[in-house]
Amino acid sequence: MQFDYLEPRTIEETVSLLSKFDGEAKVIAGGTDLLNLIRTKIIRPKYVVDIARIPGLDHVKYDDAGTLSIGALATIRALEMSAQVKERHPVIAQAAGQLGSVAIRNVGTVGGNLCHASPAADTAPVLIALGARVKIAGPAGDRTTALENFFAGPGRTVLERGEILAEIQVPATPPDTTGIYFKHAIRGAADLAIVGVAVVANFDGGRCRNLRVALAAVAPTPMRATAAERLLEGREPDHALIEIAARAAADESRPITDIRGSADYRREMVKVFVRAAIKRVLPEENDRDNEIATAIQ
Ligand SMILES: Cc1cc2nc3c(=O)[nH]c(=O)nc-3n(C[C@H](O)[C@H](O)[C@H](O)COP(=O)(O)OP(=O)(O)OC[C@H]3O[C@@H](n4cnc5c(N)ncnc54)[C@H](O)[C@@H]3O)c2cc1C
Repeated sequence: MQFDYLEPRTIEETVSLLSKFDGEAKVIAGGTDLLNLIRTKIIRPKYVVDIARIPGLDHVKYDDAGTLSIGALATIRALEMSAQVKERHPVIAQAAGQLGSVAIRNVGTVGGNLCHASPAADTAPVLIALGARVKIAGPAGDRTTALENFFAGPGRTVLERGEILAEIQVPATPPDTTGIYFKHAIRGAADLAIVGVAVVANFDGGRCRNLRVALAAVAPTPMRATAAERLLEGREPDHALIEIAARAAADESRPITDIRGSADYRREMVKVFVRAAIKRVLPEENDRDNEIATAIQ
């Protein structure tokens, strides 16, 4: 592999290099995805632009309004281990802890996980379910968009010429918000998800409020299961309704058959894991049945 290695020290310098070498340059952060692509000759960039030493891009911090800002260079491990994230958005730490091995999480960044745009990216479903937005820096300045609109297809994002992902912003959630990420994979966290399911909700007298269901590895991009969400919003879920919502999520998923599983199997697993995830986030006072959730962990 042969490329010119460039090491900008600011976002502005990065943007200018990427604009100049459009189509010939690739950003590298932790390199856990990119180096594989280069080594296997799937891509042959002329320039590799290393953003790892740009200061101020690896933060994981809350502002006074409770918004969580995650710098694109924050490692997956930093999210997993942050005491504040564990306290205020525990589902993010829980999902981060299911990506790869500790060694991979120590090097791989959140920005890299999202920009690689794998349909199976483990950080995407919880961040989508929590209503995260992404800050994009580019030649025309900064812009933001909802994370759920960031993905354009397998390996593709809406990033345009000269743009990089700078930050992920997660709004504050009501204090009684609960969430869970289930990753169904053959070799546990060390493997990519066959199906990933995140459910986040809060409850008002047993009724679902702001319930979000997001899925990984069952469509060309991470996706929200909005039909399932609509069925549950404002309602008090019982077994029958949960079953209907889980089936709706399976119906709206668009899985493919690949080495990890068939499309039919994935659709079936969406149903199983959405059902389990909804049961897991129900408040104590609801008739809670964690049988499946426990069995699949
Ligand atoms: C053994 C192994 C196991 C893995 N297991 C999992 C797993 O279980 N779940 C999972 O989701 N992933 C897994 N991965 C994939 C990978 O580790 C993650 O996606 C990681 O978070 C990528 O981050 P990185 O910083 O290494 O990205 P890099 O490899 O540096 O970059 C990835 C892509 O994003 C682009 N990029 C990076 N940062 C930016 C930015 N700020 N702006 C614009 N573009 C950017 C790069 O150009 C490249 O195209 C695994 C990888 C390996 C090697």
